[in-house]
Amino acid sequence: MIEGDPISRVLYIDLTRRRSWVEEQPELFKERLGGTGAAIELLHKECPPSVNPLGPENPIIFAVGQLNGVFPIASKMVAMFKSPLTGNLGESHGGGRSAVALRMAGYGALVIKGRSETPIYLSVHMDEVSFKDASVLWGMGSSATGRVIREREPKPGIRTIMRIGQAGERMVSYACVVTETYRHFGRLGLGAVFGSKKLKALVISGRRSFKFKDPRQYRVLYDEVFNALVTSPLMKKYHELGTSMNILPLNEMRALPTQNLAKSDFECADGISGETFAERYLGRRVACAHCPVSCIHIAAFRIPYETEPYFYKTKMISYDYELIYSLGAMLGVGTCEGILKLIEEVETLGLDAMSTGVSLAWATEMQQRGLITERETAGLKLQWGDYGVYLNAVKNIVGQPTEFYTALARGVDYASSKYGGEEFALAFGGNEMPGYHTGPAAYVGYLVGARHSHLDGAGYSVDEKFAKAGKHPTPEGVAEALIAEEKWRQILSSLVVCYFGRGVYTPEIVARAYNLLGYQLSCEDLVKIGAEILRSKYNFKCREGFDFGKLRIPTRIFKSPTPLGPVTEEFIRESIKHFKTILESAPEG
Ligand code: SF4
Repeated sequence: MIEGDPISRVLYIDLTRRRSWVEEQPELFKERLGGTGAAIELLHKECPPSVNPLGPENPIIFAVGQLNGVFPIASKMVAMFKSPLTGNLGESHGGGRSAVALRMAGYGALVIKGRSETPIYLSVHMDEVSFKDASVLWGMGSSATGRVIREREPKPGIRTIMRIGQAGERMVSYACVVTETYRHFGRLGLGAVFGSKKLKALVISGRRSFKFKDPRQYRVLYDEVFNALVTSPLMKKYHELGTSMNILPLNEMRALPTQNLAKSDFECADGISGETFAERYLGRRVACAHCPVSCIHIAAFRIPYETEPYFYKTKMISYDYELIYSLGAMLGVGTCEGILKLIEEVETLGLDAMSTGVSLAWATEMQQRGLITERETAGLKLQWGDYGVYLNAVKNIVGQPTEFYTALARGVDYASSKYGGEEFALAFGGNEMPGYHTGPAAYVGYLVGARHSHLDGAGYSVDEKFAKAGKHPTPEGVAEALIAEEKWRQILSSLVVCYFGRGVYTPEIVARAYNLLGYQLSCEDLVKIGAEILRSKYNFKCREGFDFGKLRIPTRIFKSPTPLGPVTEEFIRESIKHFKTILESAPEG
């Protein structure tokens, strides 16, 4: 057990009144473990029903779990809020130093309420909370903001700097929050909620350290987890190539969504594979705090000066599978150079790369079909592979020179409801699709998942298992597999462990870690708590209007065969019904 563990302290910050206070809430971290489990209960409490996601009543909740800062790869922090993109549950996980900084500052959760009249940034250094003028930062890109704050704030090395770019300021529904330059709270528009509160950045630092009652046993378990992580062949691949190792296998399986999913393989896949990126551009790898895997791949990209021959500036740009899929294959961009330029623009503005790529892919098809013209696109002729024109289109999503871009800034679901083309608008539950056209489980997962992401239930991996076994899934089998995985993921995201470490953090290891921390929890207890947290999320979702029976399915997904053959609407609807039945039979959260 950790002596004097401050995890049950929740820091509240009211931006309207510029006040802060601390409340002890031990039950959140005992009964709900922390992380996702704590955050969803705080969201139920702090977010009034039917609130405007961009109104001052929408709270931002950050939470860490019992293992953050204590065990390896427990390196993420959870953010919860009402999403301006889906109008429903917003849940996003970010890494970098965010989790360790909050835990070492002496808090288990942080709740930000209200709205400032003028741009500010917040700094939390242990018990000292300051509201600082950010007028000069407003209008700056995410990296420049980070640079300025790095110099102004104390405690380098042990602090996190979370900030938004112009996309968040303009409240683009899929604006992200950038943390430590290379990590993000990417999906569902946390950046827009920051922007709506005039909150440009949040700095947190902490210097606490923990003392275990039984340091020897702690050391034994720590070493066991650490060694399992560094010797796992999967982690070796994450370290060597990163998630971009997925490009070639998915392309070969015909599961790589390409050109707005008109195709599921890309003729230029070799040119944008993880191997090609690594051979030509890999400059360094970095890791989130307390992680020995170091999966974050950074390209060193040389850009020539226009007037000086032989002079270059080198930009360090992080890349991974989802970015290469969405800003590469989905837009038909088949060169590393084109993708890196797009990533850099998206980063500077502070947009979610996946939503941006999918939105532009839909807009390209709209224009090619003559459903919109250059009047809507502000003179741009969107064309597969033309990254130069996409660079301007990305800027326009934020600048919004036409009504069309204003609609596109609210996501492809909204834009297609206004301009048509819903059958090829690839959003699920309002969230733009991830890069896995692997089969029915992926799509059922995107549709029913709490955050409409591939990380809900890992449907892509369920499909891959069926494909490897040469079996055909059933609607019931898919629903059961997704729910089983999701219940366990609630535990991992309450700890808060990076999902890349899920193979190491088995129920047995988690139960041992908890017992060491002084909580008597069996594997069965953990699975029960996971089911309760999951149910609690759907209670929030249904309260805010989520309806399993009213999900829009873009018919484009039925056109290209997956590795498991064609996907049918009948299968998907049937599986959704089973998912709902199983969920409703789970214990009350
Ligand atoms: S595996 Fe990668 S994303 Fe996960 S904690 Fe480690 S460095 Fe961060």
